[in-house]
Amino acid sequence: MCSGRVDMAHVLRAFSNGMDGVFIGACHLNECNYITHGNFLAKNMVLLVKKIMAHVGLNPDRLRMQFMSGAEANVFVASTNSFIKTIKDLGPIGNSEGLVDGEVRSKLARVEKLVSYIKIAKKEKLNRRLNPEEYEGYFTEDEIAQLLNEAPAYYIEPDKCQACMICARRCPVDAITGAKREVHVIDQDKCIKCGTCIDVCPTKFSAVTKMVGRPAPPPPPEGKRAIVKKSEEKEAA
Ligand code: SF4
Ligand code: SF4
Repeated sequence: MCSGRVDMAHVLRAFSNGMDGVFIGACHLNECNYITHGNFLAKNMVLLVKKIMAHVGLNPDRLRMQFMSGAEANVFVASTNSFIKTIKDLGPIGNSEGLVDGEVRSKLARVEKLVSYIKIAKKEKLNRRLNPEEYEGYFTEDEIAQLLNEAPAYYIEPDKCQACMICARRCPVDAITGAKREVHVIDQDKCIKCGTCIDVCPTKFSAVTKMVGRPAPPPPPEGKRAIVKKSEEKEAA
């Protein structure tokens, strides 16, 4: 497929599934037949994923991108042979980096869940068309550490939610459940941290909170999510 279609989720999944190396062959920059020039985007993605790899303790040399044309079989052969040698020299993923069995998968699983958030947070940088001299230091390890450590959690405040259902309709991954006159709740395992719910919750309710550096509290248990209007509370009293 076109290098522009190679998603960071594909690369992370390959490593998570035990691949020792990932090689991406792409057309030369500025030689794309389409207006999309997806190879620029792929290069930015590779620069970012290499920093993520370093952050989780994997050798970034396990990921390589090579520009070449369809007429450059010699470049393809030389670059793949060189990559294979690099990977053989590095050895099996994880153990060679001093990680214990299962650690690669668990570390990458956390990052895989943040792919959408990372893409949104770094959208501008991921979409730029870089000159090769800008590659070095384009993404930094500190930047990636901050990005991953400050991944937010979104939480619906039970005493503020008025069950208008707007957030549930707009959530792109159906992570919000709720019913008429029932406090809505976010499934943290499904949430991709896009922030749509906080944007669409009406200001008069402002029921969604963004939490950074701490997990969201558990939602109210099922059966205790009914919204009782103030007038009904008075009548009951
Ligand atoms: S941030 Fe909100 S809208 Fe976005 S995925 Fe999570 S729950 Fe859904
Ligand atoms: S948009 Fe706000 S008030 Fe409406 S259901 Fe979602 S959290 Fe509750």
